[in-house]
Amino acid sequence: MDTENTNITGKVVVITGASSGLGEATARYLAERGATVVLGARRADRIQALAGEITGKGGQAFALATDVTDAAQVQALVDAAVERFGRIDVIINNAGLMPLSPLAMRKLDDWDRTIDVNIKGVLYGIAAALPHMQRQQAGQIINVSSVAGHKVGPGGAVYSASKTAVRVITEGLRQEVKPWNIRTTIISPGAVATELPQSVTEPEIAAGVGQFYAAVAISADSFARAVAFAMSQPEDVDINEILFRPTRQDL
Ligand code: NDP
Repeated sequence: MDTENTNITGKVVVITGASSGLGEATARYLAERGATVVLGARRADRIQALAGEITGKGGQAFALATDVTDAAQVQALVDAAVERFGRIDVIINNAGLMPLSPLAMRKLDDWDRTIDVNIKGVLYGIAAALPHMQRQQAGQIINVSSVAGHKVGPGGAVYSASKTAVRVITEGLRQEVKPWNIRTTIISPGAVATELPQSVTEPEIAAGVGQFYAAVAISADSFARAVAFAMSQPEDVDINEILFRPTRQDL
């Protein structure tokens, strides 16, 4: 077997935000290496098409429309994975958005959505997966932070706060889940080419972010490979954080 597939083949992996970008690329990447992928996002047509594409190539996939701001829907996604495939080995709490704007613009709706999806969505994923992983005495929780979880700049206060929260929650989780042999991983990407810049609601800021991404962003496979690296370690090795950027990104 290709060494890269070690500890990937046969694993049941739940991915939130699987309808585009990092989640979609990771679903394809892991399915090609023999993982069973369970896909959640609001755009049901997209995740169903992706699941169809994966199963059409002989892989294993299942899609369920999921809004991560609703704890019951996240629980239903995780429970569906366990009911259909017998267990959950990995959850990738990936769904997120980045509606950058200066605080003085008072975009309260953007702040609420950022906190609801980027923080509470991750917490709901943890809440849904933990009981299964505790029972299994095994599992891996991969939470997606960002370079923005390490630094903040103008316009990024709420987004960086949400991504810092993801790192803090994950480190707290890491220390708490020792009794159940559960691994925790933070993945903090720099600019990766996805639909994320489209979540900026201010046209002028969106244009600037779009230009920055066009100049520096790298392929979403970079993230998928980081996930595969963390997953494929022997079970007694816990990769706690991966921070990566495009080589040409200076921020
Ligand atoms: P995309 O916009 O391409 O993907 C975001 C995903 O999140 C979509 O699948 C979207 O699905 C999903 N999503 C958004 N809101 C919800 C919701 N309420 N419920 C369920 N799913 C939701 O961006 P990325 O792939 O880049 O983003 C993935 C993660 O990576 C995010 O957490 C982002 O912050 C993080 N990240 C990305 C970086 C980048 O440069 N691309 C850099 C650092 C971090 P749908 O709309 O169908 O619900």
